Amino acid sequence: MSIFSGKRYAVVGLGRAGLPAAERLRELGAEVFVWDDNAASREAAAGFNVARPSKVKGRLDALVLSPGIPHKLPKPHDEAKWALAKGVPILTDAELLYQAVRGQGSHARFAGITGTNGKSTTTALLAHILDVAGVPNAAGANLGPAALSLPLLPDNGVYVLEMSSYMLERIATLRFDVAVMLNLSPDHLERHGDMAGYAAAKREIFARQDEGCTAVIGIDDTESREMAAWLHTRDVKMVEISGEDIPELHVKALPGKHNVQNTSAATALARALGVDWGAIAQGIASFPGLPHRQQEVGLRAGVRFINDSKATNADATSRAMGCYERFVWIAGGVAKAGGIDDLAPFFPRIEKAFLIGQDAEAFAHRLQEAGVAYEVVGTLERAVPAAFAAAAASGVVLFSPAAASFDQFPNFQVRGETFAALAGVK
Ligand code: ADP
Repeated sequence: MSIFSGKRYAVVGLGRAGLPAAERLRELGAEVFVWDDNAASREAAAGFNVARPSKVKGRLDALVLSPGIPHKLPKPHDEAKWALAKGVPILTDAELLYQAVRGQGSHARFAGITGTNGKSTTTALLAHILDVAGVPNAAGANLGPAALSLPLLPDNGVYVLEMSSYMLERIATLRFDVAVMLNLSPDHLERHGDMAGYAAAKREIFARQDEGCTAVIGIDDTESREMAAWLHTRDVKMVEISGEDIPELHVKALPGKHNVQNTSAATALARALGVDWGAIAQGIASFPGLPHRQQEVGLRAGVRFINDSKATNADATSRAMGCYERFVWIAGGVAKAGGIDDLAPFFPRIEKAFLIGQDAEAFAHRLQEAGVAYEVVGTLERAVPAAFAAAAASGVVLFSPAAASFDQFPNFQVRGETFAALAGVK
């Protein structure tokens, strides 16, 4: 297939998604230039034309920019700045997947999932429901395989794409047949400027939807309700979902109210895709769950070790805290705006906190004000045994950092695996 023959693309940022994108675009006939500021990453791309996009002679059809690299705030990357000045579109790989799928004549449908929290769970759950229903599907983008490494699906297939706000800023023609925006709370504001900028990026999940499409929207926070009001003015089928006032599910992999929201979302999307209720119910009941999301990784002397490494902000952590009456808490890393202020209602449930990472002192300060017992221990290696020793009464060690991982770990997965490994050390 050479549907991209004659096209010239520059791929900048050769991480998890960059290299597969470059490979797929080349397979599809495009001329591909690659760049990464890191010399080792450039070496790993041997076999491609390695060049800064701004130094490429002749026209470029698009700059495929890694979601981690800013084109606006806090400071645009030089190559992105160049592309903006030259009018070269800055795209995310999911946009090119869409173009590739349509270009190859497949009518496979696209499901898009976004929101501050719950994206991965909803994405994995919808894919699982589609599996149970026997619908060919491929899930990825922000979660799992990069968009451009997903296979070509037949007309009855469904792409289930987890879309971050960074990706949504870089789509151009991609239209989601069904899409959900789950919830909004302050996150990534350094990239979006303010809440309005963040919401505007998230709203792009519904861009280009028309009367044949379904927009699913969470209505459990103010910003999302504002988006729902905007959706009401659009010509699209709309489903409002809520995790409030609905009993919790008795499914081990989907604990807490927040998972009622995620499950409602996956159900609404599956219904809009034509899946019958039986397959949906069976899919929910048999969902295996995702690692690093309130995952029980150990049980020792009656103490349960819960790995919630994916909770990189206070809102996510509050969901986990709501599931345990009392617990020993391990937290810290790179804090988000507001720190742990929003967790105050759960402070009485904390037996003792063990704090790690860059912003441990800031968290400590807040806990001290509230009279919560804590210790700044610096690392997970020290936190886990100390937390275990303190957990005899509560029986739960909850690792839900309420902070990003990149001060001490390459990503939240490695952070969670480190916790799980330490939890298993006798
Ligand atoms: P995302 O992919 O958006 O980061 P995940 O599904 O990976 O979301 O869940 C990350 C963490 O966020 C979970 O461990 C849980 O604590 C919390 N969470 C999950 N779903 C929701 C939700 N609907 N609302 C609020 N918090 C949630």
